[in-house]
Amino acid sequence: MTTETASAPNFIRNQIYDEIETGRVDKVVTRFPPEPNGFLHIGHAKSICLNFGLADMFGGDCHLRFDDTNPTKEEQAYIDAIKEDVSWLGFEWAGEVRYASDYFDQLYAWAQHLIREGKAYVDDLSPDEIREYRGTLTEPGRPSPYRDRSVEENLDLLARMRAGEFGEGEKVLRARIDMASPNINLRDPILYRIRHASHHQTGEAWKIYPSYDFAHGQSDAVEGVTHSLCTLEFEDHRPLYEWFLDNLPVPCRPRQIEFARLNMNYTLTSKRKLKLLVDEGIVDGWDDPRMPTISGMRRRGYTPASIRKFCEMIGVTRADGGLVDIAMLYHAIRSDLEDNAPRAMCVLNPLKVVLTNVAEGHEEVYEVPGHPAREDKGLRRVPFTRELYIDQEDFMEEPPKKFFRLAPGQEVRLRNSYVIRCDEAIKDDTGEVVELRCSVDFDTLGKNPEGRKVKGVIHWVSATHAVPMEVRLYDNLFLVEQPDKDKDADFLEHLNPESLKVCQAMGEPSLAEAAPESRFQFERVGYFCADRHSCRDDKLVFNRTVGLKDSWARIQKKDGQKKG
Ligand code: ATP
Ligand code: MG
Repeated sequence: MTTETASAPNFIRNQIYDEIETGRVDKVVTRFPPEPNGFLHIGHAKSICLNFGLADMFGGDCHLRFDDTNPTKEEQAYIDAIKEDVSWLGFEWAGEVRYASDYFDQLYAWAQHLIREGKAYVDDLSPDEIREYRGTLTEPGRPSPYRDRSVEENLDLLARMRAGEFGEGEKVLRARIDMASPNINLRDPILYRIRHASHHQTGEAWKIYPSYDFAHGQSDAVEGVTHSLCTLEFEDHRPLYEWFLDNLPVPCRPRQIEFARLNMNYTLTSKRKLKLLVDEGIVDGWDDPRMPTISGMRRRGYTPASIRKFCEMIGVTRADGGLVDIAMLYHAIRSDLEDNAPRAMCVLNPLKVVLTNVAEGHEEVYEVPGHPAREDKGLRRVPFTRELYIDQEDFMEEPPKKFFRLAPGQEVRLRNSYVIRCDEAIKDDTGEVVELRCSVDFDTLGKNPEGRKVKGVIHWVSATHAVPMEVRLYDNLFLVEQPDKDKDADFLEHLNPESLKVCQAMGEPSLAEAAPESRFQFERVGYFCADRHSCRDDKLVFNRTVGLKDSWARIQKKDGQKKG
């Protein structure tokens, strides 16, 4: 069963469609412009699917460009991870990977151009003074005493800043726009800062680095980007980006369109906060399967298609402040795996069962479909022997009324096999049940037992052939829907102490061959993925991707009933 979800609205797609129809736009050029200061998360996936998706749809190009203006926070390792994530999601960038740092010479020339036009100046105010002079939302700013330096002096000082003659924070280059503008971004924004830092791309070449605002829009212009898509917090920066386009001899005028960022419940979508989880050792690295990073989701068992599907489901709007239900993401992966993941049996908490009327050494092998609806998934061989494992949860010594599984004197069907009856529960010194003695009704293979109904079916594995494996059960990392809602409070207080449980499980022998990153439905248990780091020839490790119950489909159904 696949629950098809209609595509949600995407106003940017509609708009470009119109532009193409009316001939206002010929070739669409977009870009995904990450800062290489952390791993990509599910919010970035939204932006990636939007930018690459539009280029694909309209036969245009999408660039991958690193906006690498802040060398002290950036690393080559992040660049490598981001490239891998974008490729894994199934997208191909046009041409080589690009860097804002490729344009440092051009940006510097444009800074000189602004100076010559009297539209930029070197300021000696300290960072604190600059902040103080800037004013507030209600009060205008004041001009810096250095605002009226001559062109010659400004050019000379900028060159000396570049040559490393001054210390960090001693001077900045600022645009000369309007200290009284109601838009604070236009109150003489900073264009260049002094940083005696080496850069992952340009090495020691520069002692000054452009601000993000001075680099971002012009990089788009250099690349011939037609549609600069960004999140709503950049709406207030648009007048500044347009000022640069108006005042510099740029080769093209990209159009900025803002959309609402993705926020999702139980999930952080801030690289800074995710980095804290990594740095504090709260998670096992950026690709911990509990992380909302693309690499974490990959390791957890998400498919690229499921993430793209999710991004299609959430749509693209300008409505800010919404919180997407994580159940929607779970729904997207669950329906993919429902259709595509082969089935297997795995017992998470093994309880030994001895079938007293099966001879020692007896063995039958069932050929069972890999997937109930997909012949192409082939058959798997499931051996049946005298000793089995079932899950501890499928036995109760004193069962409540509707417990249709195993209990003393009660019958249950072993999936794909016989009906068995529990004759005796054997306990250890502490009174814990450690083994069940059961008997098989041999007249029940592939048919109902005579004269009675057996309702329950449980999964099992042959104790003789089972493969031991570690199963990691992941749950939401946070207990509350918006862990970072209170700006001042510490989101770490809301960590879910049970976000990871580890089981020493027993799987059916077909799982011994599971390749890293292969995905399965463990029948009656959930969807699992062989861990891409720990699953090796000598050790099987599976991560739970998602459980079987689809709360999103349930919510949809309820909504449908309410509306209908
Ligand atoms: P973070 O706040 O996590 O550090 P960022 O916006 O600083 O994210 P960038 O590397 O600058 O991270 O992001 C690259 C692109 O991804 C930008 O165009 C940004 O608008 C977009 N993006 C980032 N977060 C989200 C989100 N939650 N939803 C949609 N797009 C996002
Ligand atoms: Mg950013």
